Amino acid sequence: MGNLEQERFSCYRTASIINLIVLVLQGTILYIAFNLSLLSDTVHTFSDEIVLIGTCFAAYQATFQLAINTTFMQERMTRISIILLWLSAPFIIWESWERIHSPVQFPGWPVVGIALVSMIGSVWIHRIIDGIGEENHNHLDHANLLHVLGDIIFAGAVLLSASIVLVFKTGAYDGHIGMIVTLLFSWRGWMLWRDLTAHQKKRLSANKVPHEHSHDCGHHH
Ligand SMILES: [Zn+2]
Repeated sequence: MGNLEQERFSCYRTASIINLIVLVLQGTILYIAFNLSLLSDTVHTFSDEIVLIGTCFAAYQATFQLAINTTFMQERMTRISIILLWLSAPFIIWESWERIHSPVQFPGWPVVGIALVSMIGSVWIHRIIDGIGEENHNHLDHANLLHVLGDIIFAGAVLLSASIVLVFKTGAYDGHIGMIVTLLFSWRGWMLWRDLTAHQKKRLSANKVPHEHSHDCGHHH
């Protein structure tokens, strides 16, 4: 056990707290000014929270258990979050379809505000994870960093939807943007899923242990 595990734990703990604050604020704004671009982003922030909490727990375990393999747990939490994202997608796409055909206005300013807050949150989380130290990044840190950069772009989509409301006085494009963002999140989930599978295969062949999670149950040959 070293300082690196301590540092990773404290970084992901801070990141998950920032993300949770953004999530609560998004939920509040959603209540005040319901729109589908923001709904899609909020569901996504929720799935991020699961990954961050999972990473946090794994890093915490690693601080007092020397040879523990936390990668397995982190990967499982990530898969759960991807599945949640996929499960929410048909609902949001359906709602977006409805909105495209019967657009609904929503207050623009609160949504502009929350899009900016979520951008600032993402930049902040990126800086924190990046601060763990370049040479010490594991592949999940790298994946998380890339992920957070993508999140900034998705917050931009929410900003766009709200700006259209402010400038053109119409919620007509909220459905389109909500649908595109949801499809992109789903697609990115699929890319991450593939990436996880590839890494798992590589690790398993490197370890030459067929079932890493069931081999320390105490039975001897
Ligand atoms: Zn994200």
